[in-house]
Amino acid sequence: MDRTPIQVLFVEDSEVDVELALRSLEQGGFEVSWNRVDLEEDLKRALGASQPHAILSDFSMPRFDGIDALRLSKELAPGVPFIFLSGTIGEERAIEAMRLGATDYVLKNNMRRLVTVVRRALSEAGERERIRVAEEERARLVQILEATSDYVCMTDPAGTITYLNAAGRKLIGAPESQGAGKSTGEIYPAWARELIEREGTPVASSTGAWTGETAILGADGTEIPVSQVIIAHRGPGGEIRFFSTIARDIRERKAYEARLQYLANYDPLTGLPNRDLLGDRTLQAVAHARRASRPAALLVLNLDRFKLVNESYSRGAGDALLRMVADRLKSAVREGDTVARLGGDAFAVLATDLARPDDVLSVARKIREAMHSPFRLEARDLHVTLSIGASVTPRDGEEFDMLLRNADAAMHRVKAEGRDGFQFYAAAMTRQAAERVELENELRLALEKNQLEMHYQPQVVLADGRIVGVEALMRWNHAQRGSISPGQFIPVAEDSDLIHPLGAFALAESCRQIRVWGDAGSAELRLAVNVSARQFRSPGFVNTVERALRASGLAPRNLELELTEGVLVESRDRTVAVLKGLKELGVQIAVDDFGMGYSSLSYLSRLPIDCLKIDRTFVSQARRRQDAAIIQTVILLAHSLGVRVIAEGVETVEQLDFLRMHRCDQAQGYFFSPAVHPGAMAQLLAAGSIRPPAGKFN
Ligand code: C2E
Ligand code: CA
Ligand code: CA
Repeated sequence: MDRTPIQVLFVEDSEVDVELALRSLEQGGFEVSWNRVDLEEDLKRALGASQPHAILSDFSMPRFDGIDALRLSKELAPGVPFIFLSGTIGEERAIEAMRLGATDYVLKNNMRRLVTVVRRALSEAGERERIRVAEEERARLVQILEATSDYVCMTDPAGTITYLNAAGRKLIGAPESQGAGKSTGEIYPAWARELIEREGTPVASSTGAWTGETAILGADGTEIPVSQVIIAHRGPGGEIRFFSTIARDIRERKAYEARLQYLANYDPLTGLPNRDLLGDRTLQAVAHARRASRPAALLVLNLDRFKLVNESYSRGAGDALLRMVADRLKSAVREGDTVARLGGDAFAVLATDLARPDDVLSVARKIREAMHSPFRLEARDLHVTLSIGASVTPRDGEEFDMLLRNADAAMHRVKAEGRDGFQFYAAAMTRQAAERVELENELRLALEKNQLEMHYQPQVVLADGRIVGVEALMRWNHAQRGSISPGQFIPVAEDSDLIHPLGAFALAESCRQIRVWGDAGSAELRLAVNVSARQFRSPGFVNTVERALRASGLAPRNLELELTEGVLVESRDRTVAVLKGLKELGVQIAVDDFGMGYSSLSYLSRLPIDCLKIDRTFVSQARRRQDAAIIQTVILLAHSLGVRVIAEGVETVEQLDFLRMHRCDQAQGYFFSPAVHPGAMAQLLAAGSIRPPAGKFN
């Protein structure tokens, strides 16, 4: 027979009584290790050392009292069963003993009962311990639930709340330690309650758990979006005992998602739909146009000379203007139309449900009228014009990208033709654009393949035909197309970044060439090099010039940069700064194509200009009285300012005579020589002058 090992502490003066008790315990199936004390100090020490399974105590001993022993034991070992084992014990004392916490009592003359009493005491003590541990654990869990920031709630199967943790109470605004007793119906907004009843509870009941996004009504009645888990808890019989819910406040995430959604679809500066959203709307519009046979139009709008605003106003002024333009655009179009910002200074309008394609004209007119009155920017009035291009679906395409590209092509056509206008897309534009792209690609390769070279056209003194300078003009020897005119490829280079390497090449190569001629003994020669607008405005331009000078050793005074009037007129401050840098290098500045009408001489006179080149068109019309008068005035004014004058495109002896008569300084043109390759130029230089046939004023 298996014995149950137990440790017993006897509080007993009689060793014989201990023997008796031991015997009956052992007979009853216990294997006892034991200890005996009969003094208070000994009991204290024994309990301090280790806790027995049971204490068996005599009631009255010579030097110790059973009740005292009981008190002490309850204090030092409260969980250990304390059983009186006594010869006699009166009824009253027995009751007192029980009241003080004795587990039971056994009379020494009824020792058989001892085994039963000890067994029961041990099992009860075990049960108590289990409960204590379980309770401790439960308390710990509740502590955790109270501390978590998630909402935790338990409900009975009928939906009444039995527990709501601190986070939950806070969320619904229930006072401390309340919340229980409420019905879940009061906690959820109607739609969430409906979702939980229709889906949450049934799914949790059948599969154990349900996860979803719902909402909880906050203290002030606002809906708080939550992500929620519902768990069904079953009893041993499989019946549902209760439901628990864990929910997490996802307000932040929702707000973040909403912001992302907004950013993905709207332009933060103007609040207008962005390109993506415009794309979606266009798709809908295309579908509607097909169904209803009513065309829709996509207009692309670009602010003219927006760059100037950024340059001549403070930072932020550009943004302010874009916002104002956005507002006017919105009020200019119909309710159902979409105004979008494509980026930078580019906007778009999607006009739907038109009766005829030509109705776009009136949309464009309204938009342009909306820009009519000046914009008030930093206490100044600013006039804004738009270049507008439009494509119409289904005529010009049924895909957003294509409609946008086509409208854009039309808009660029407006820009090219002088801005401030409107154009429909015409199919021919794409062909042109494609050719342009091809040309750009080939031009990129042309540099590497050494297909670019510089030709030179002499500049002569009108009085005697002496060659005093040359203008460097670029040539492109295309493998298939032969020589391509710079008039064709320079604008393409201007539109891409190619103008920078191209311009640097022109400068470096022509400076080098002049030096070679100089070394060969030719007289001092001035080199004129054309500079395009983009090139002039690029930040490194002055450096590029300096490098070319240094690399070639050409004297700076012998380099003249030709800038068109347009370049000099735009963005004045920046222009003046760059000119100053160039003058510090010591190079000369010529105004190319002068007379094309952008500027007045009085404006130019305030810039450090060394030379005016009268445009070919004036020279060729010199016989007309008006042009003759202009040339005359220009020469006089230029001379009064100490500026040299060169006439361009001189082709006939009549033109030559006319220019001589009016004391024009120098000339270039086919009459003397076209631009020629360096070898031919060397021959002209060897002769030193080109003596024209004698004219009237010779
Ligand atoms: P541009 O600066 O006005 O150059 C003068 C243009 O007139 C040259 O055309 C020249 O060949 C042409 N020309 C000269 N004499 C006569 C004449 O008597 N009659 C006529 N009808 N034309 C004459 P080209 O070489 O075709 O150059 C065209 C434009 O391309 C130039 O106009 C200039 O703006 C630009 N360009 C040429 N080379 C360069 C360059 O290296 N860099 C830059 N940025 N632009 C260049
Ligand atoms: Ca020129
Ligand atoms: Ca010119």
